[in-house]
Amino acid sequence: MTTETSAVTTAMPLRGRVAVVTGASSGIGEASAEHLASLGAKVAVLARRADRLDDLVARISKDGGTAIAISVDVTDAAAVQAAAGRVEAELGGADLLFNNAGVMLPGPVEELHTDQWQRQIDLNISGLMNVIGAFTPQLVRAAGERGVADLINTSSSAAQNLYPTFAVYAATKAFVSHLSKHLRVELGPKNVRVSAIEPGIVGTELQSHVTDEGASAWLEGSKETIEWLQSVDIAQTVGFIASLPLRVNLPQVFIMPTAQPS
Ligand code: NDP
Repeated sequence: MTTETSAVTTAMPLRGRVAVVTGASSGIGEASAEHLASLGAKVAVLARRADRLDDLVARISKDGGTAIAISVDVTDAAAVQAAAGRVEAELGGADLLFNNAGVMLPGPVEELHTDQWQRQIDLNISGLMNVIGAFTPQLVRAAGERGVADLINTSSSAAQNLYPTFAVYAATKAFVSHLSKHLRVELGPKNVRVSAIEPGIVGTELQSHVTDEGASAWLEGSKETIEWLQSVDIAQTVGFIASLPLRVNLPQVFIMPTAQPS
């Protein structure tokens, strides 16, 4: 390999790869889609807001990348299957899945916001599983044919730590982390690397959906002592995981704002 070729490979470590990013219309997913494209991957961006996805695809294309927008509600299993069909037909199948769409709706359990419990379970667990179900065959095939594929699930520090009033959200993320460990045991021997990323607070739209005043005040107040992570910090972590030598798998990445104690 010439020095020149080597430099290009290092700059574009994901050239030839096909990434699917859910929750790509804002926050962590949006930043990750742009970053993966900048590393050379073709990217399929999934979320419900088509206008935001179209803007993202236009930005990636303008920067010389390749992306397609697929507007889909990931809680709809049939729609996610159809999305997987489009990725197969238009990009040749995924070898990198960043399974990231999620919602956080804290609140005291005694207030019985059962609709919010259900929304979190439907998206963070059932939606996540719909995406795994639809894309795992593509990942396993890519791993068999090309020797590598990545399944990267977005969990949370809430999967490890205890935050009062965040019980249902934290439990959905504990599901994601535990599921990821098990899938790694199952899929690792087939060359599919499985990772769970567990971030502390990242400044995104996530906080804007919170309706509980106590939780909102706690989050807002934390800004006085903690510089929150930015979406790009997680995006770079996703890019790092996927760019590692094929023999290397980071199963669990716990990533915190420096000043967030737990
Ligand atoms: P955002 O609210 O900015 O992003 C959430 C994304 O999920 C959006 O793109 C949204 O797009 C998409 N989404 C929501 N519902 C659906 C649905 N039914 N079908 C398809 N897509 C959907 O928040 P973040 O970027 O922060 O969140 C990304 C992930 O990171 C989540 O899993 C979250 O739990 C996790 N996380 C976030 C942390 C933080 O502090 N921000 C900390 C730890 C983990 P649309 O509305 O267009 O569908």
